[in-house]
Amino acid sequence: MSSLERRIRDIFGERCSFSLTERVAYSFDATRQRAIPDCVVFPENADEVGELFRVARESRIPVVPRGAGSGFSGGTVPVSGGVVVSFERMDRILDIDEVNLVARVEPGVVLGNLQSAVESMGLFYPPDPSSRDFCTIGGNIAECAGGPSGFKYGVTKDYVLALDNVLPSGEFLRTGVETVKGVVGYNLTSLIVGSEGTLTVVTGATLKLLPKPEHVETLLIGFRSTEEACRGVNEIIRKKVVPRTIELIDSTAVECVREFSPVDIPDGAGAFLLIDVDGFESDVKAQVRRVKEAVTSLPVVSLQVEEDPDGRESLWALRRAISPSLLKVNPTKINEDITVPRARLPEVMRRVRELSEETGIPIVNFGHAGDGNVHVNIMIDGDDPAQVKKAEEVLREIFALTVSVGGTISGEHGVGISKKPYIGMELSPRQIEVMKRLKRLFDPDNILNPHKIFPD
Ligand SMILES: Cc1cc2nc3c(=O)[nH]c(=O)nc-3n(C[C@H](O)[C@H](O)[C@H](O)COP(=O)(O)OP(=O)(O)OC[C@H]3O[C@@H](n4cnc5c(N)ncnc54)[C@H](O)[C@@H]3O)c2cc1C
Repeated sequence: MSSLERRIRDIFGERCSFSLTERVAYSFDATRQRAIPDCVVFPENADEVGELFRVARESRIPVVPRGAGSGFSGGTVPVSGGVVVSFERMDRILDIDEVNLVARVEPGVVLGNLQSAVESMGLFYPPDPSSRDFCTIGGNIAECAGGPSGFKYGVTKDYVLALDNVLPSGEFLRTGVETVKGVVGYNLTSLIVGSEGTLTVVTGATLKLLPKPEHVETLLIGFRSTEEACRGVNEIIRKKVVPRTIELIDSTAVECVREFSPVDIPDGAGAFLLIDVDGFESDVKAQVRRVKEAVTSLPVVSLQVEEDPDGRESLWALRRAISPSLLKVNPTKINEDITVPRARLPEVMRRVRELSEETGIPIVNFGHAGDGNVHVNIMIDGDDPAQVKKAEEVLREIFALTVSVGGTISGEHGVGISKKPYIGMELSPRQIEVMKRLKRLFDPDNILNPHKIFPD
């Protein structure tokens, strides 16, 4: 046993593993990029994380925090080995405060469990990445996770009031306030949310809650083409309606799900908008009427409205069927999450379709059109080097287009290792330098989740 192993065992006892099987199990995320750590630890409190950092600093070994490993940018992949810190044993909801409208949680709480717990009390925690059944609050905070309801309710950063952190020095740092307002000093909480586990390790969070909306209705609207569906988004917003979600299912996605579709896809329907409207019942009815009025100026192919939970679920099943059906197109998907000002969405989608036609590479698009956030899935055979090269060119062109219309190359998945080569397309050298200085300030020894975000 090495002295390092002995020191880690002294801190964690049985709650650490050096076995190859377990190290492999914690070596990858949803991108399937992988690197095997030297060890995995399962802390039960912040003190243990602090002690780990003291050992890691002396031995100069990386420490990589991990939630559920559902990230789409390789953020938790331990690219230079070291210790993976898995928060599955810190999964307690400590308090749900109905008067102050906050929840206090440990980082390993699965998002779906928090949502169920608060909803059983008539409360609501809106951030809703589609991975909610397994992703964790720690991972959501690190990635500033979004999801379909971002259009009305915003994303994780809008709900994090305060954080308990462990710095790479092993010291503790509490940031933020638990009140609605608070402007004393710099907003360190906002800096840490979305920092992809590169500045601090989050060991606790105070999250803002809302009252649960009383009534929800779902509309599924069929259009002839993706461009018309995108125009539909803008028409709805012009009518001053604020739906909880406006999801786009583009024509290539419709083709993928056609044969597995849980709902009828009418002839001529080339794209869909899936819209949830929530609030008090009378208000929801009025908003549904407005959505219908908004799309009458376009050649709508079909329009379905459901309000009971089973009916709503059957419409959402169409959206959920897309991801599993993509394999039909090609075995490898390059899944990006560009976000553009929503008024520019029709032209961006048109250019993406042209790129697909020009290169012969299928590109399937769906996602949170209300936020201008589209999941662009470039479908290739990853074993064919020529296709991989062509896909890389297509990707660069899509990113360049996104930035040229005032968008961002990642709305919610983060940079991690996947988008490192591209950040210079969006950020200026000065911005990157200031960010690197911040990283050095928090982590002078570069032991916390190194080699992420910034090109080496
Ligand atoms: C099917 C599917 C659907 C998805 N849908 C969406 C979606 O709609 N919207 C969306 O935004 N994302 C989505 N994602 C991406 C992913 O689920 C989110 O990024 C999620 O927030 C990651 O959480 P996790 O617990 O799995 O974190 P991990 O993947 O384990 O880690 C992600 C990052 O967080 C860091 N981290 C984890 N815990 C901590 C901590 N306690 N302190 C500091 N850093 C930490 C890690 O180091 C890493 O950098 C989806 C993923 C899948 C597989």
